[in-house]
Amino acid sequence: MKIVVASDPSNLPKLVGAAKSLSPEVIEAVSTDRVSIPVDKLVIADLTLNDCWTSALSEREFDLMLLPSTRDFKEIGARVAARKGISYLSDVQELELGDQLVVSRMVFSGRGIEKLKAPLPAVITIELDAFEPISEGGGPSSVEELKVDCSPRINLLERREREAEVDLSKAEIIVSVGRGLKKKEDLEMIRELASLLGAEIACTRPISADFKWLPEERHVGMTGVRVKPRIYLALGISGQIQHVVGFRDAETVISVNTDPDAPISEVSDYFVVADLYEVVPKLIEEIRNKRGS
Ligand SMILES: Cc1cc2nc3c(=O)[nH]c(=O)nc-3n(C[C@H](O)[C@H](O)[C@H](O)COP(=O)(O)OP(=O)(O)OC[C@H]3O[C@@H](n4cnc5c(N)ncnc54)[C@H](O)[C@@H]3O)c2cc1C
Repeated sequence: MKIVVASDPSNLPKLVGAAKSLSPEVIEAVSTDRVSIPVDKLVIADLTLNDCWTSALSEREFDLMLLPSTRDFKEIGARVAARKGISYLSDVQELELGDQLVVSRMVFSGRGIEKLKAPLPAVITIELDAFEPISEGGGPSSVEELKVDCSPRINLLERREREAEVDLSKAEIIVSVGRGLKKKEDLEMIRELASLLGAEIACTRPISADFKWLPEERHVGMTGVRVKPRIYLALGISGQIQHVVGFRDAETVISVNTDPDAPISEVSDYFVVADLYEVVPKLIEEIRNKRGS
């Protein structure tokens, strides 16, 4: 059994962790830089474009290839599998390897899980959040520097990382707002509450994508960030599944909604039927009084 994992160096620990959990005999990692990771072979190549990754990975021999479930690697994985005429599965959250490969992944925006059996060889992209990074230390047993012959039709002129204001995935307390908030100026009281609680502010997609009141990196959900805070305080959020999948790993969910039948009640530990415009100022006052400020 030979498993090839491939990505930029930052994702390798989780990919190698996933590969090792399958007890493979040989693990090979393909990456863009030298990295200290316990694999049998580390292959380094100058890989910037999807075309180059596809060429480099299509050359490798393997039983199973694991890639991260990012937009680029989902495209690369599909192309490698198509070139080799082998199975391809994306967004996998669980892997079992017996006589055949069995994988599980979310369907219907997180309402269900499907389990699929696939013959080997196969290319799989995995949801990195669902896997633990490799715990053991040590470097690769051998290193190969690969020259990739790829002449892409499209040339990359420039790629700039957008400077993120915040990494919500690491926040301990989150105050999240939805369309129950009536106007942008009302974010001021939300900011005040968040600051008193030492919390980060998050939102539903309409607040960032439609109204542009908050930046995209603050929207939680299927098309946004996945968060796992100790406390998720949801204010004026209905609880549509596309939003809920983003905070399903939160320890405690508290929501405030004027509608007693709002779907968010089903996923809340504490559900307060109230107007956020009454609750938020009272909370701010209460915290201030307690702290004597
Ligand atoms: C393909 C696709 C992907 C999507 N991805 C995402 C995603 O990643 N993240 C996401 O968030 N959404 C996503 N959406 C949108 C999602 O379906 C919902 O439309 C959105 O989450 C609803 O946002 P909301 O709860 O803010 O608004 P609404 O559904 O309009 O809910 C507003 C809530 O506020 C309550 N309310 C109103 N006034 C008050 C008040 N004064 N006090 C207290 N409560 C009040 C109302 O009772 C209501 O429950 C996606 C949609 C599609 C089609």
